[in-house]
Amino acid sequence: MSMRVLLVEDDRTIAEPLVRALRREDFDVVHVTTGSAALDAAQDIDVVLLDLGLPDMDGLIVCRELRARHSHLAVIVVTARAGEMDRVTLLELGADDYVVKPFGQRELVARIRAVLRRTRSAEEPKQIPVIELGPIQIDQRARVVTNSGTPVHLTPKEYDLLVLLASDPGAVRTRDEILREVWDEHWFGSSKTLDVHMTSLRRKLDQPDLIETVRGVGFRVNIPDDAPIAGDPPAVERPGSSGRDSQPPR
Ligand code: CA
Repeated sequence: MSMRVLLVEDDRTIAEPLVRALRREDFDVVHVTTGSAALDAAQDIDVVLLDLGLPDMDGLIVCRELRARHSHLAVIVVTARAGEMDRVTLLELGADDYVVKPFGQRELVARIRAVLRRTRSAEEPKQIPVIELGPIQIDQRARVVTNSGTPVHLTPKEYDLLVLLASDPGAVRTRDEILREVWDEHWFGSSKTLDVHMTSLRRKLDQPDLIETVRGVGFRVNIPDDAPIAGDPPAVERPGSSGRDSQPPR
């Protein structure tokens, strides 16, 4: 099954060669020229290439709306705005990556493949299906996070970040390790990126003690009070305990 790409770009001189290039790469491409058409066309799309300067809506609003309505799709922003404020704003609005105009088609294709690789590998059903951390439940097969049964809407990056930490509660993940695992070599941003996502993740989870900052090192998920702690007899089967013993640290 080829991957479905939604290109949102009103400038035909950019869009037309890009559509041809993406089709040559075997992507199934849908091209729209407005923000409202993008919102209508986003169903069943794997990755959105989103121009920010659209005729009908601010691309930032489109990005936020896409993310709110379709939490599983990836958004790569294609922008002529390269300022630091925009970058932080983009991450907060849920973009997975961005490229600055003018960009090379090969670079863009590499970014798309990297984003899709991350989405797909996270979907492989080899992991523990459900991780429970007190009131927080992570269903890895559905990529759904709930807090006391209420869905928590995370971006793909925030989700990957949470799963990385939650797959081995109590273990410290270093900042470098997190950047390597959740982002990749194409992401050239500083580790401030990580802090932006961490702040947003913590706010959405609404569990102030769940993710602990280990100063100067990284982060870890705290084991909730009712879960087994290191040194407990491992024989007792309890919901949420499987993540500790069956997942060796990588
Ligand atoms: Ca434009």
